[in-house]
Amino acid sequence: MIIVIKDNQMTIIDEIRNRFEGTHEVFVHHNRVAIQGISETDLTQDEKIAADAIIDNVPAAVQGSRLFHPEDTVITTKHSQIGGAHFTMMAGPCSVESAEHVMKMAKVAKSGGATILRGGAFKPRTSPYSFQGLGEDGLKYLRAAADAYDMDVLTEVMDQDHVDMIARYTDIFQIGARNMQNFSLLKAVGKTNIPVMLKRGMSATIDDILNAAEYIAAGGNHQIMITERGIRTFDNKYTRNTLDLGAVPVLQKLTHYPVIVDPSHAAGHTEFVVPEALAGVAIGASGLVVEIHDDPAHAFSDGAQALKPDEYRQMAAKAFAIRQLITTPNEEKSEVTL
Ligand code: PEP
Ligand code: MN
Repeated sequence: MIIVIKDNQMTIIDEIRNRFEGTHEVFVHHNRVAIQGISETDLTQDEKIAADAIIDNVPAAVQGSRLFHPEDTVITTKHSQIGGAHFTMMAGPCSVESAEHVMKMAKVAKSGGATILRGGAFKPRTSPYSFQGLGEDGLKYLRAAADAYDMDVLTEVMDQDHVDMIARYTDIFQIGARNMQNFSLLKAVGKTNIPVMLKRGMSATIDDILNAAEYIAAGGNHQIMITERGIRTFDNKYTRNTLDLGAVPVLQKLTHYPVIVDPSHAAGHTEFVVPEALAGVAIGASGLVVEIHDDPAHAFSDGAQALKPDEYRQMAAKAFAIRQLITTPNEEKSEVTL
């Protein structure tokens, strides 16, 4: 249940907190108090009078819900703002391949307007015999490349034991699709103060990803972004996955976290990456994360879906133009009506 407290009754929040904390999970956000597992009959007369509204049937993922936190979450890193009125470009190779290569790719990423350099040093590969990533050396190369071009680093953490080590190099943790429900990992990044990009599992429902995000929030880390990267459907003959574009506005209605689109892992083939990227922008995503490579045929991973530098720059220019077209100045932010 969420109680929306009247402006002139805010002092009651501490009383409510004291009464329920210890026996129930209690969360407070400005004038909203969420208490798990109670109903209106558990409130005193004074508490009911202090309430502007009482919202029942709140989702279990309450901290991520717009009912609890109506305003957009905006994540601020050294070089980027993600969410709200901002549109953020993130680009880089699938894998960090060498110091020289990731430096070259950082330059390309930056030239298309990216402020975040992506690159995997620990790779979740379908086959154990495929390239697994350069590990900590890769993180060093990625960090140096991002610093050289004043960009933030986004890189995947696959294992809870790596969280502290990767934290020394990255500005944003990526939790990959395959680990979306690795609850130990989610709890581990939830205890850090580093923003997390949580990618939707290929068979995850909307509620599944919202609950996965809640694991991170439950640890105290609220800097979360959710990425739609394509889901498994009945047909993967022509595309690697099915980009669930409809999930973008649905997630934006349900949660205050920024929603990002990854057209690369959805499409799986370069020729479909650009239209899916632009559709992602048009439907209102807060940003794109795309894979780029100067020589896709020889990429260490995911070459088939990498955009070449010029393809990327052209796509990015269109993406920014579309974003501008669909954003009316001072647009009223959608609030949940109670
Ligand atoms: C990646 O970003 O390279 C990756 C492996 O992504 P996903 O977890 O979405 O498959
Ligand atoms: Mn990849």
